[in-house]
Amino acid sequence: MSEYDFDLFVIGVGSGGVRAARMSSTYGARVATAEDKFMGGTCVNVGCVPKKLMVYASHFHEDYANAEGFGWSEVKPEFDWPKLIENKNKEIRRLNGIYQGLLDNAGVTHFDGRARIVDAHHISIGDKVISTESILIATGGWPVVPEFPGSEHVITSNEAFFLEQLPKRSLVVGGGYIAVEFAGIFGGLGSQSHLSYRGPLFLRGFDSDVREFVAEELGKKNVQLHFNSNVERIEKNPDGSLKVSFKQGEPLEVDLVMYATGRKPAVDDIGLENVNVALQENGAVIVDEQFRTSEPNIFALGDVTDKIQLTPVAIKEAMAFAQTQYLGKPTVMDYDGIATAVFCQPNIGTVGLSEEQAREKYGEVDVYLSSFKAMKHTLSGSDERSMMKIIVDRESDRVVGVHMVGAEAGEIIQGIAIAMKAGATKAVFDATVGIHPTSAEEFVTMREPVAS
Ligand code: FAD
Ligand code: NDP
Repeated sequence: MSEYDFDLFVIGVGSGGVRAARMSSTYGARVATAEDKFMGGTCVNVGCVPKKLMVYASHFHEDYANAEGFGWSEVKPEFDWPKLIENKNKEIRRLNGIYQGLLDNAGVTHFDGRARIVDAHHISIGDKVISTESILIATGGWPVVPEFPGSEHVITSNEAFFLEQLPKRSLVVGGGYIAVEFAGIFGGLGSQSHLSYRGPLFLRGFDSDVREFVAEELGKKNVQLHFNSNVERIEKNPDGSLKVSFKQGEPLEVDLVMYATGRKPAVDDIGLENVNVALQENGAVIVDEQFRTSEPNIFALGDVTDKIQLTPVAIKEAMAFAQTQYLGKPTVMDYDGIATAVFCQPNIGTVGLSEEQAREKYGEVDVYLSSFKAMKHTLSGSDERSMMKIIVDRESDRVVGVHMVGAEAGEIIQGIAIAMKAGATKAVFDATVGIHPTSAEEFVTMREPVAS
């Protein structure tokens, strides 16, 4: 019998923590967890899930408008924000219960409350102190807002999910995933939506054709894009609205400013000063291939390690951790070819390298590019366009990057990601018979490279 109360104590019941706790317990470890905010973590409560529900909501006004071209009579729909939030909250509460059930059914002992590391083998939650052989830090991340005059008037994505009303005029600051998704949500739901990004083009790191295409498409929707735009100060008007002044250009009057300027690893106030866990400059916990920190019995995974901040990544890391530590099956996480989607309007789906990265890595690449109006929009009257891009390493014929902007791009790219993981060459794409009529068939019919 171990000298400790538990074999593993997991701090944080988010995407990574839940999976690590459940699987480790299933493999025979005695596991405890602690959570101080919400069962299921960021993704379930203030991330992927409520965000996607709000993205669905924001598409309906287009669907109503598009239906007319197909013979449906005009409707004048009314949108009820409090009802959306209430229904979303109900669904999240249901999921919170499911996560609690997952832990209970796996035999995990759960503590509600903030966990702090007392020393390498002890955790405190309130006035309880628990001993444990190993600790897993799975505390996720938290939004960062730069300090500037009036920064106290802004919200982050955390609060956006619980607003009492939809702002009539909104400004989202930032140019990453969260900013483009929320600018689309607010615009789609009827807010006069603005996005301000400090650089010349948002979505840095994505393929440049994708970035330009998304800027064009979002510009056609109810979203006004302001690039090379830097907020100087925000003042509150007597009526509660906000006056946003920029370093260059005209000020903007809005009802809500949301900052989506990145997230930092959640390492404050978890007791790291009591142990020897090395951090990067931005606070990310440094781990090796086995998710081990510089303190040999303390591990970390998910957003707190700031590798790739995605739920399926945290989950896969947790699987690798549990298999390695408690199943006797050493497993190394493979970070190659991780597909991702940005749920802006239309969606981005992407896997593998951008053209720029592929040229740097392989030198000679062939690029296949197609931009078109999806069949639905021949009758809908919408001017929305889609684009697809394939990047091929010329020497091996391997497909090394695939990108799409268009309806359901995430759904489509998931299948392509499997093909790429299996090492598909362009010849394999060409030998595949398409499904007609779909947008996705374009991926197997592009024959002429546009650039070499
Ligand atoms: P988290 O899920 O953040 O879980 C950490 C948990 O630890 C939290 O519940 C926190 O309360 C708890 N905690 C922290 N400190 C303590 C402590 N001391 N004691 C007790 N508990 C503690 N990813 C996708 O793949 N697809 C998406 O569409 C997507 N959309 C997103 C949208 C938004 C707005 C945001 C913010 C994120 C989104 N993400 C998305 C990213 C995804 O949510 C994260 O990558 C994922 O949740 C990381 O999981 P994690 O386990 O590392 O951390
Ligand atoms: P990102 O890191 O993706 O983007 C941050 C943005 O803020 C960048 O455009 C950055 O600009 C800008 N920025 C950073 N600091 C400042 C500053 N001081 N002033 C002005 N602008 C600034 O972070 P997000 O918050 O959008 O999202 C966090 C992570 O969550 C994402 O990286 C992603 O992994 C995950 N996520 C995933 C989603 C999905 O899978 N669909 C959806 C939402 C989030 P610059 O580029 O110039 O540095």
